[in-house]
Amino acid sequence: MKGKMDLIIMGPQGVGKGSQSEDLARIYDIPHISTGEIFRKNIAEKTDLGKKVSAYIEKGELVPDEVTSEMVFNRLSQPDAQNGWILDGYPRNAKQSEDLDKWLKKNGHKLDAVILLEADSELIASRIQKRIREEGRSDDKPEAIAERLAIYARETKPLIDYYTQKGLLRKVDAQGDVPTVTKAIRKAIEN
Ligand code: AMP
Repeated sequence: MKGKMDLIIMGPQGVGKGSQSEDLARIYDIPHISTGEIFRKNIAEKTDLGKKVSAYIEKGELVPDEVTSEMVFNRLSQPDAQNGWILDGYPRNAKQSEDLDKWLKKNGHKLDAVILLEADSELIASRIQKRIREEGRSDDKPEAIAERLAIYARETKPLIDYYTQKGLLRKVDAQGDVPTVTKAIRKAIEN
């Protein structure tokens, strides 16, 4: 079955993926599936998954691909995800994008678009500072932030080429306020 709107949102930490995903989820009436949020919830609830992943997350390292992909596919199989979804924080490397491609094929889904949010590094740094003040995430400490940035540059950025080649990438300037950026995203994916 073809989803109504199957989207991926990409971009460096602090660029605003979370805020934009929330808005798009409301607009298209699809679930916002954030791997980081699911992991944090499991850690807070001390589930087996939470116990398995907390050390990686504290350090800003990637949770192993098998664990992450299995969790994502379980989530994508839930009833509320049958009309589409917006994936935030996954895939983060080549192996995960291959896992996702296989899952999509097997389950008769096709991606509609991969949104890449872009902003200059100073703005991103200031948004991360704001998040540190407001959310108090335990992995928003300097070493873990630096590790996540390095992983993004090394492992996640190559996916930009991967999805460009598939004709799915939509680059969006994320430097405006939330409604302006939401509008730009809609324009990019609906045209
Ligand atoms: P985020 O909220 O997207 O910044 O994710 C927080 C943390 O969760 C990351 O630093 C990773 O430790 C872990 N994580 C989230 N998504 C993934 C993923 N796709 N693959 C591996 N680890 C992930």
